Amino acid sequence: MKKETQISIIVPAFNEAENVAFLAERIVAVLPKEINYEILFIDDGSTDETLSVLKNLHGQNKQIRYLSFSRNFGHQNALRAGLNEALGDAVISLDADLQHPPELIPTLIQYWQEGYDVVYTVRLENQNQSWFKRKTSALYYRVLGFITGICVPKGAADFRLLDRKVVNVIKNSPERELFLRGYISWLGFKQIGVPYEVGKRYAGKSSYTLMRMIKLAWAGITSFGIMPLRLASIIGLCTTCIGFLYAGYILYMKLFTDSFVVAGWASVLVSVLILGGVQLLIIGILGEYLGLVYLESKHRPAYIIKEKSEND
Ligand code: UDP
Ligand code: MG
Repeated sequence: MKKETQISIIVPAFNEAENVAFLAERIVAVLPKEINYEILFIDDGSTDETLSVLKNLHGQNKQIRYLSFSRNFGHQNALRAGLNEALGDAVISLDADLQHPPELIPTLIQYWQEGYDVVYTVRLENQNQSWFKRKTSALYYRVLGFITGICVPKGAADFRLLDRKVVNVIKNSPERELFLRGYISWLGFKQIGVPYEVGKRYAGKSSYTLMRMIKLAWAGITSFGIMPLRLASIIGLCTTCIGFLYAGYILYMKLFTDSFVVAGWASVLVSVLILGGVQLLIIGILGEYLGLVYLESKHRPAYIIKEKSEND
């Protein structure tokens, strides 16, 4: 490898004061000696000591850099900031909580040197992740694949290596709500997956609440096409057909049989409720997309940097 080749390691950190120093130490320990590296921490508006710990780390080792958001903008935006600011020929992203073992980094680099542009990682099932998270994530990627036709490897996480040319494509993408896992798989390029065992969170607790997981999941689906809108039309069509069939049935009973009993309010109520529900659902889905268009059209920045380590 040429001497000037540089690897960037980007780490989003939200309230990870107890983890970042240990993580940096472990990363530096596993990096091959001939590699020129930078570790770029993105402090996502932490409310604890994370930023001051990062400043300390930068003071000790200039290859450790940081940038700090003006408030919490979320993990995905922190990753984007990292990709935008990283200088390396390859960029590796991983979590700050040591669930993504730094020991895998040399393997990622090795595949990259063999010519792969995207080296993603695939989580092996193990007990370090809650049963609920494992099951919902597996189910979700199945559904996502079905709805969008995009195959996101099951167990994919934001622990991966990207070549400079892939990073540049992402940098130039104007999309605001970027669902990186899906987007990268959609991009193409030469990709390979590396299995690994998720570790236990070193300190602190997960900030991905159920609500945040649902938000990310929904962003994944809507950012990949209009299948839900189509689904809405299909449901609408089906209920309309059923309505017509039912009307035909009543008409038939009225005209050709004398066994016609006045239909009870139950059937009326049921059809009104079903139709009303379906309409609300469809309007809701339409609204979601309209909302997305609205958000994108505002061209707000995805994140705001408050301060960063000077580049020297
Ligand atoms: N994270 C972030 N901003 C947030 C939430 C999380 O930058 O608003 C970071 C966090 O510091 C960690 C990574 O994203 O490095 C994954 O978060 P977490 O461990 O809480 O999620 P989990 O591993 O439980 O999915
Ligand atoms: Mg974690």
